[in-house]
Formats: sequence, C-alpha cells, structure tokens
Amino acid sequence: PTAGGPLLQVDAVTKRFGGLVAVNAVSFGVKAGEIVGLIGPNGAGKSTTFNLVSGLLKPTEGAVRFQGEQIAGLNSRAIAKRGMARTFQHVKLLPSMTVLENVALGAHQRLGGLMGMDVARAMLRLDRADEARLLAEAARALEQVGLAHLMHEQAGSLALGQQRIMEIARALCCDPALLLLDEPAAGLRHLEKQALADVLKQLRAGGMSILLVEHDMEFVMQLTDHIVVMEFGTKIAEGTPEQIQVHPAVIEAYLGG
Ligand code: ADP
Ligand code: MG
Repeated sequence: PTAGGPLLQVDAVTKRFGGLVAVNAVSFGVKAGEIVGLIGPNGAGKSTTFNLVSGLLKPTEGAVRFQGEQIAGLNSRAIAKRGMARTFQHVKLLPSMTVLENVALGAHQRLGGLMGMDVARAMLRLDRADEARLLAEAARALEQVGLAHLMHEQAGSLALGQQRIMEIARALCCDPALLLLDEPAAGLRHLEKQALADVLKQLRAGGMSILLVEHDMEFVMQLTDHIVVMEFGTKIAEGTPEQIQVHPAVIEAYLGG
C-alpha cells in the first residue's frame, strides 16, 4: 500500500560484474494496474535489471522500493513473500502430473522456497487441510487465467502457449501485487501470443501490475502502458508505445543492433 506512489520504483540502480557495467544508473517505475515493458537489444541489461528487482542479484548501487519499502539486497524469497512473483524463461513443469498439481506445487514452492522434485516430496508431507488449501488456491489461479477447463489434463500434454499461461497461474498463487514475466511470448505462435496477451490484459483489468522483458515488439506494443528501453546497460528512452515507436534513439538502437 503506497499512498499515490508507484508500486515499484527502481532508483539509479547500477550493477557491475568486475569491470563490466551491466546496468548503469537505471531508474523507472511501475504503477499499480499498469503493464510495463522492458526492451532492448541483446546484452542491454534487461535480465540483470529483472534479477536486481526480484532479488536474484544485489545492486552495486541504487535503491529498489516495492510497496514503499526498500527491497534492494533482500533475497528473492523475502521479496516474493512481500508480493512479487516471477516466471522464468524456461518452463519447469512436471509433465506427468496434472495442470492443477503443477500449479499447486508452484504455490507451495513459493511458500517454502523449494525446487523441483523436493517440492513433490514436500507436498506429500503436507497434511490434508494444507493440501486442500493449495489445490483450491491453484484452481482459483487457473480460473483467473482461463485454464480451469484443463486442470485435470497432464501438464506435458499442453501446447507451449498453454504451458506459459500455466506458469502465470503458478505465479498468481499467493496473490502477488506485481508479476514479473521473463520473455513470456518467446517461441509462441501468433495465436498463442494473442491468447497470452488477452490473459495479461484481463489480469490488468483486475488490477494486477506487470513488468515484462520481451523481444517481440508487436507483442510489447499492443500490450504495454509504458515501455523502458535499455542499451549497453543504460536507459535510452521511456514512454508510451506510441512515443517509443517513433523515438530516434530507439530506432537507432534497433537498426544499429
Ligand atoms: P539482456 O538480458 O538485455 O540480453 P543481460 O542483463 O543478460 O542482458 O546482460 C547484460 C550484460 O551483462 C552483458 O554484457 C552480459 O554479458 C553481462 N552479464 C550478465 N550477467 C553476468 C554475470 N553473471 N557475470 C558477468 N557478466 C554478466
Ligand atoms: Mg536477457
């Protein structure tokens, strides 16, 4: 709960890897109910920025405020507990388990900070009430993304686009205030991208805030409210999709790269 301020504020954040400045004094914000896109050529510093926000990396300098509190330097589990959920570029599903179980395991993972099959084992140790609660939460998240009708299918039988949406359902368990998506449209076919965009727009309509890294320009332009453009670790532009499409520095960065 921030009184009018942005939900997320990245403030002059710098990340150095030895002599390399991967992110150089970058600032931007995400307001409640907004979809913000982070774009830029390969090596621009997008993933590093994402990792600085979600706590996988600690900034060398600068501040990250989430819901009004300083979170730079907290680990990813502590940040997740404060209401930030993220997906990863590569879907880690348990193919022979159902969609519902996969989402429930994701929720449990988020709660317990466990990974992979440890999660499945941990789940077996849950008591009935906890398991029922997790499954109910997972069902609600699947409902939210329009996949409830597939909850009893094997996760491995889903098309890639549906798997990506399932990943988002996983992230939605535990009621995050901010969703971080790492290249959600990568590898998807046109219709799958449309379906994904529709899901994200619907989440936004419900008040969700989303920050996404994405290569697909058409996808970003039709979906986002605000775009931050990076090149060589620096923010070179930001604005609405309309402003970014005609921004000279952005055109230069993409034609040059
Ligand atoms: P993007 O996601 O925009 O393609 P990255 O954030 O992955 O860019 O990388 C930005 C720069 O930082 C690149 O030059 C990359 O090689 C470098 N980099 C990223 N992670 C590390 C790391 N862990 N150690 C050293 N250099 C890194
Ligand atoms: Mg990257």
